[in-house]
Amino acid sequence: MRVLLVEDEVRLAETVRRGLVAEGFSVDVAHDGLEGFRRAREQDYDVLVLDLMLPGRNGYEVCRDLRSAGVWTPVLVLTAKDGEYDETDAFDLGADDFLRKPFAFRVLVARVHALLRRGAPARPAVLSAGDLTLDPSTRRVARGDVEVPLTAREFALLHHFLHHPDEVLSKQALLEAVWDPLVQPDPNVVEVYVGYLRRKVDAPFGRQALRTVRGHGYRLAADGG
Ligand code: CA
Repeated sequence: MRVLLVEDEVRLAETVRRGLVAEGFSVDVAHDGLEGFRRAREQDYDVLVLDLMLPGRNGYEVCRDLRSAGVWTPVLVLTAKDGEYDETDAFDLGADDFLRKPFAFRVLVARVHALLRRGAPARPAVLSAGDLTLDPSTRRVARGDVEVPLTAREFALLHHFLHHPDEVLSKQALLEAVWDPLVQPDPNVVEVYVGYLRRKVDAPFGRQALRTVRGHGYRLAADGG
């Protein structure tokens, strides 16, 4: 069983490496995010143990970019107590489990074994409405064979619509699902972004997938318009 450990604290990395080797794992170590990403992408590991705060590229970026690149090795993220991010972010970016530092080594080993039993995470399914498709794993959106580049917010909005085909979604519901509630954005921002999406996924193709339901909100036609 091959493990890639990406950890910039050299002493901790060495302690964990020795421990995992004693448990029968074959262990490679990378000390920064760039090297970790490169190795995880080029070689076939069974589990990736990934520290969050790393030089070069942080653990979140490594995890997100690996998933975007189609690498589905299970990832155990190591988080520091006063980290800049919290664990739910790690799950959003494709991590499979997290362990907060400082941790007991036997707990780490148990988590690694659990991930090995679980195997590679399921690749999220491509969402579609007719010929309008969105692939969460590669973040690609297409109308038929034509790829449509979207901004992160447009992507998140379309993703939400595709999870609720044919449902009428109010501006408020979309706002809560797609925007950060702490920012308290103006509800009209939804209208603006629906407009952006229409100009990208509908208008150039002579289609009308995103319908306005007057007085209620918006609906994505399940047949793609
Ligand atoms: Ca670190």
